[in-house]
Amino acid sequence: SAGMRPPYLQGLNAEQQAAIEALEGPVLVLAGAGTGKTRVLTTRLAHLLATRKAWPGQILAVTFTNKAAREMQERIGRLIGGVVEGMPWLGTFHSIGAKILRRHAELVGLRSDFTILDTDDQIRLLKQLIEAEGIDEKRWPARRLAAHLDTWKNRGLTPDQVPQGEAFAYANGKGAELYAAYQARLKVLNAADFGDLLLECLRLFQENPDVLAEYQNRFRYMLVDEYQDTNVAQYLWLRLLAQQHKNICCVGDDDQSIYGWRGAEVDNILKFEKDFPGAKVIRLEQNYRSTPHILGAASGLIRANESRLGKTLWTELDEGERVTVQGVWDGEEEARQIGEKIEDMMREGHPLHEIAILVRASFQMREFEDRFINLGLPYRVVGGPRFYERMEIRDANAYFRLIAQPDDDLAFERIVNKPRRGLGDKAVQTLRQLARAQNISLMRAARLLIQSEELKQPARRNLTAFIEMVDRWRHLMASMPYTELAEIVLDESGYTEMWQNDKSADAPGRLDNLKELVRAMEHFENLLGYLEHISLVMDVQQSESEDKVNLMTLHSAKGLEFDTVFLPGWEEGLFPHQRALDESGLAGLEEERRLAYVGITRAKKRAHLSFAANRRIHNLWQSAIPSRFIDELPREHVEVLEAETGYGSYQSFGQSRFEHSFETSDYGSPGWRRAQAHGGAMRTKAPQIEAQAELVATSDPAASRYEVGERIFHQKFGYGRIQFIDGNKLTVDFEKAGIKKVIDTFVERH
Ligand code: ATP
Ligand code: MG
Repeated sequence: SAGMRPPYLQGLNAEQQAAIEALEGPVLVLAGAGTGKTRVLTTRLAHLLATRKAWPGQILAVTFTNKAAREMQERIGRLIGGVVEGMPWLGTFHSIGAKILRRHAELVGLRSDFTILDTDDQIRLLKQLIEAEGIDEKRWPARRLAAHLDTWKNRGLTPDQVPQGEAFAYANGKGAELYAAYQARLKVLNAADFGDLLLECLRLFQENPDVLAEYQNRFRYMLVDEYQDTNVAQYLWLRLLAQQHKNICCVGDDDQSIYGWRGAEVDNILKFEKDFPGAKVIRLEQNYRSTPHILGAASGLIRANESRLGKTLWTELDEGERVTVQGVWDGEEEARQIGEKIEDMMREGHPLHEIAILVRASFQMREFEDRFINLGLPYRVVGGPRFYERMEIRDANAYFRLIAQPDDDLAFERIVNKPRRGLGDKAVQTLRQLARAQNISLMRAARLLIQSEELKQPARRNLTAFIEMVDRWRHLMASMPYTELAEIVLDESGYTEMWQNDKSADAPGRLDNLKELVRAMEHFENLLGYLEHISLVMDVQQSESEDKVNLMTLHSAKGLEFDTVFLPGWEEGLFPHQRALDESGLAGLEEERRLAYVGITRAKKRAHLSFAANRRIHNLWQSAIPSRFIDELPREHVEVLEAETGYGSYQSFGQSRFEHSFETSDYGSPGWRRAQAHGGAMRTKAPQIEAQAELVATSDPAASRYEVGERIFHQKFGYGRIQFIDGNKLTVDFEKAGIKKVIDTFVERH
């Protein structure tokens, strides 16, 4: 009877209970958003422990993020009361794979303390291998090879399994060979990349049946959340491990498969029933998260997808508010309005952590972050760095800082060889040594160094070119708007090109962020004003309080829920994203639509969509068209809000795309004035050129401690006699190296 049920099993519906209590044999829970899949998984785990079906160490539980794993651990404790000892095998595929690999590292040619490479390390390594093969890295960028490796690893392919045709996609067939060389090199370095954490684990199992058997026996029960987003390698790994006990429970929703671009395969859902004959498939239909309006809007939208298994969702919750749709003038106004709404909500007592802003592309965060910093509204960026802390933004800012302030050593070091311009560690070390000894900045040391022969060609030539480039930019400051200069800098430095050549999945987003950065710069009078803003932003004390607005991409929002969700930027080209449409056609569009579905279904009580009438793309203000997804929302669940300012209203909702109607009064809005003043192409106010700082004198006048005729010893060239002295530059006749111009810092009296 129900009275006998342990408390953690109460309050669940019949299907949920069935899913929890079907402990033996394969189970697939296939259900829509908010139906309690994660809750079922957590309760099932609690049930296993409470009924002593398994010890914590005998349960393998896979979550999509580490954070989700921590939350699951906490919830289990709450469900069964008392302290649950740690769950050693609760984590992401990567973390569990790493743990297994470390225990048996020697069997795959590693030591247990192997390092896990990040993308940068990986690229550096690939470059070395590509150069060693005599392949032109300019033509066949390492980043492109890295992208291939990633795909192969996601599909569980070892170097000898790469299909011939695909190996040809890189350097005329060298792809698989380089893959093999790379794997061999990783072993020498005692390192593994992310893909290896699973792939090497698979190899470990395949080559060592005893090890496989150990884990197959150990994992009496296996649980997997967000199953729709597993890739082939992960699926193979799960299938191998489940062979013994076959007690595997996967929960997922085909409508929320949003990582196809990273190799996830919805087909894994279909394969499950085939590979695990007799699998119980359980469907959950009651949604406990969202109001009927939110659910209705989301369900109506996803119905437009053709490739889906299809499901019904219903809820008992009160009707609630309709999903709102609002048009705004531009991204700035969007951020301002959302900021205001959040402040209102805060005053009404809504906790900030129950509010989320979910963006399609990370560049959209910039506007919100600037706004929130302005308002003093505490926020956190979930699943990634804050906008100004992103690698590409820090790099770009380092270039700008170096132009404004050439003695900025941190900026110098950050970008002197980024993109690579033949100024490797050795050259930089020499620079540092000189700068320290003479107590000057790296830039000054560089100017000094190129007048000597301390650096070999071509490093000297490259350093000279670098200095000349920075000097040229400094001169340009006087004659052009600094935002224009910023674009020139990113172009001429090769920095933009570096990311254009990058074929990894995050490169396009980084390029968008760089464009957004230049756009952000237009809000400041001059370069110094901008740099000042950056240092303030970077210095903003993050509020200690846990009560913060959540800002994240739609992709990072998977599995989460909030009372209020803002969904900005619903415009054609941004959402659905143009790239998804261009690269994957209908499949791309459907994945975008699933992403929209994920977005709306994060909301418990309120969902607010917005779209801007203008977005700047490639320096041009373009009129944006509201996303087709807005048209796909059933009207009865939507309320169209009147635009407060801006361009007029969005009246023809549901019949046709919104039309711009510029009313006279609207010409007063700031965005319009800006666009108007520049004939559509936004160009900022006349540049206030900061005083043309004096260009640093090219030689250091300090007198040398040495005398002509003196015998000296030089670190690189050995013994020699001084022939001529010019400040601290010495011309020395070396016994072995001949006549060279050196700097006295590198010389010792002898
Ligand atoms: P998603 O597909 O977004 O990951 P999900 O199917 O995993 O969603 P959960 O996050 O597990 O759904 O549950 C959604 C919300 O509904 C949670 O707040 C959860 O606590 C609540 N919930 C689930 N089942 C019940 C129930 N039987 N009674 C009350 N609340 C429930
Ligand atoms: Mg979930």
